[in-house]
Amino acid sequence: MPLDTDPFDAERLHEACGVVGIVAPGTDAAYQCYDALYALQHRGQESAGMATCHDHRITVVKDNGLVSHVFADAALRALAGAHVIGHTRYSTSGSANWTAAQPVFRSVDGAMFAIAHNGNLTNTVTLAQEAGIEFTTMLSDSDLVAELLAHAVDRGKSVAEALGEVLARAEGAFSMVILEPGKIHAVRDPHGFRPLCLGQLGTRDEPEGWVVASETPALDVIGATFLREILPGEMVTLSDIGVTSVQLLEPASDKQDLCIFEFVYFARPDSYLMGHQVHTTRRRMGELLAGQGHVEADLVMGVPDSGVPAAEGFAKASGIPFGYGLVKNRYIGRTFISPDQVKRAANVRRKLNPLRENIEGQRLVVVDDSIVRGTTTRALVRMLRDAGAAEVHLRISSPPFMWPCYFGIDTPTRDDLLAAHRSVAEMNDFIGSDSLEFITLENLRAAIGLSGECCDACLTGNYPAPVPVTIGAAGGRW
Ligand code: SF4
Repeated sequence: MPLDTDPFDAERLHEACGVVGIVAPGTDAAYQCYDALYALQHRGQESAGMATCHDHRITVVKDNGLVSHVFADAALRALAGAHVIGHTRYSTSGSANWTAAQPVFRSVDGAMFAIAHNGNLTNTVTLAQEAGIEFTTMLSDSDLVAELLAHAVDRGKSVAEALGEVLARAEGAFSMVILEPGKIHAVRDPHGFRPLCLGQLGTRDEPEGWVVASETPALDVIGATFLREILPGEMVTLSDIGVTSVQLLEPASDKQDLCIFEFVYFARPDSYLMGHQVHTTRRRMGELLAGQGHVEADLVMGVPDSGVPAAEGFAKASGIPFGYGLVKNRYIGRTFISPDQVKRAANVRRKLNPLRENIEGQRLVVVDDSIVRGTTTRALVRMLRDAGAAEVHLRISSPPFMWPCYFGIDTPTRDDLLAAHRSVAEMNDFIGSDSLEFITLENLRAAIGLSGECCDACLTGNYPAPVPVTIGAAGGRW
């Protein structure tokens, strides 16, 4: 397949988000959608939105802010109807504006639909040019897909037919929910980069509705039973009478390319992905990391939150006591998603505070999930030393992050990735730790219990789908 040239690469809107779709006959499903979105808040804190359908009318409420801020009682009351889709949006550089909030609504020639998207398309410019649409930096992937669908519907296609036509030409990552009167479609890209699962409300014998969501905790919180993951390229359609499924798009291969960082960092620990509970895989990452080399230390501690299970596993396998050395302020977003580097360093202190009595004079093993730019990690090490740590040995539960992601996760350009042009020893010097070790890719895969079934392009440079040609020079923005 041809590579796409994207002149707007540096300015594009990119998302790693959470999506939900619910059909719950006889209810106003927005209330359940609220709870499900709340359970997916970790996937995006910039904006939240819902679209419901009632009496053949679609209502959209969306705004910047957390789920709880956007949906006060009045907003929920406005969202009548048993069919709802919802979205939480991730914050990325230069994209903090209301127009990027989802779902995106279109009405054309008597038909109407709303879509919400998790992922990132890599050939948006080509798609826009082919359709004669002017591509601007303010047009998000979801806007473009909605526009392309509208064109197809305008030519007489049904929404489902339009999805098949448009998404067959789309490249990159998309787990998408689409609301139209009477039904909700949920589609996953042919690689399966982003997660999407199917659940059922009520009992197996007496179903009371159907749910699709990015992660299984969104099902748990509304009492839905997990049924299965949506397959790469599959489209399921939820309606009052049940669920149908078609293989809308040919799978890219006989394996999945689910993002390996869903296991390392993004997904909730209580999520199940490809049959594995994420928390268990993170503990196992720590165990295998400990087996890679001996370190003399007094205490193993994790960087909250995703580093903690790996630290527990490290402690168990190494015999070094596990303890807590950092307290997290839970009421702010992740520093990984802060838009600029200066703020990121400052955010470490806003987000984490050392437990001085636990770490004073101690030789620490500090387990974290990843190093991206390195500035956050450097500030963290300095903070631990200032709090009295005798030594700081960093252990990372993912291999060096060397390549930008184009499939829906916000990363800096390649030149800003600490590991892109540095050895482990050079990274250790930059960060100021006493030692630094990363889990090997083989051990990471072993911890997850998969053999080559995930996308690991940011670790290996082996992109499973075409990416913008700017990768060799400056890398990508999301
Ligand atoms: S490139 Fe990395 S972050 Fe992006 S989808 Fe692949 S594994 Fe995930």
